[in-house]
Amino acid sequence: MNIPMQKNTINSIKYLDKIIEFETFYSDRLKTIKISIDPSKKIRVYAPKNTPVINMGEIVKNKGMWILKKFSYFDSLNVEPKNLEFKNGETHFYLGVAYVLNIVQGTATKVYLEDKKLVVVSTNFTNELFTKKLIDNWYWENAKTLFENELNNKFLEFNVYNLAKPIMTVERLKKKWGQCSSKGHIKLNKELVKLPLECLNYVIVHELCHLIEHNHSPRFYKLLGKHYPDWKKQKEKLNNFRLKLI
Ligand SMILES: [Zn+2]
Repeated sequence: MNIPMQKNTINSIKYLDKIIEFETFYSDRLKTIKISIDPSKKIRVYAPKNTPVINMGEIVKNKGMWILKKFSYFDSLNVEPKNLEFKNGETHFYLGVAYVLNIVQGTATKVYLEDKKLVVVSTNFTNELFTKKLIDNWYWENAKTLFENELNNKFLEFNVYNLAKPIMTVERLKKKWGQCSSKGHIKLNKELVKLPLECLNYVIVHELCHLIEHNHSPRFYKLLGKHYPDWKKQKEKLNNFRLKLI
């Protein structure tokens, strides 16, 4: 929506047994209240200036069923949709947000995100295999930097245990989001870069806990709960992303 917006706060309503959060935006150029959801499940409510939040909440409530249906649809999306063709207009995910693929011809290759687009500047823009390669490399590079940073941050919390810093590698794992060997080698699934950041953080904390407790024992879950109190919710969320296991 290309209307100058005054961003406001995040609010929530209760619908059935669910708390639904929404963000409010105001513009005096709007005549009615509008609502949008994106694949990361962010709800935005756009309203004319001075609309009471309570009215916006009512609209969200009225749309409750539609919102929950959208939520489960987004949950069911594969992070790596089958039959990707690497053509313009396709949806690709980065950190849980959907981007529309936009391939353009250029004199040098480059991949970047802009607004809601995954822009691929290619020297051979009609070659889908080449586009795939460029996107794959871009995911790998981002995954390596991001995973390393997130692991370093989380590892700070584990300093108290006097552990040797684990080796971390980004891997093409087929059946697991992460793995931790008894020697302290943590492997993280490269597909995590397509999921919301909290999923990655959950997997990292889970694997770091394995440096201390190697099995899924009650002691392990106690430790996990200490370092990631919200782990059950994240685990469930992660299960909603069906990995394409090839
Ligand atoms: Zn585990």
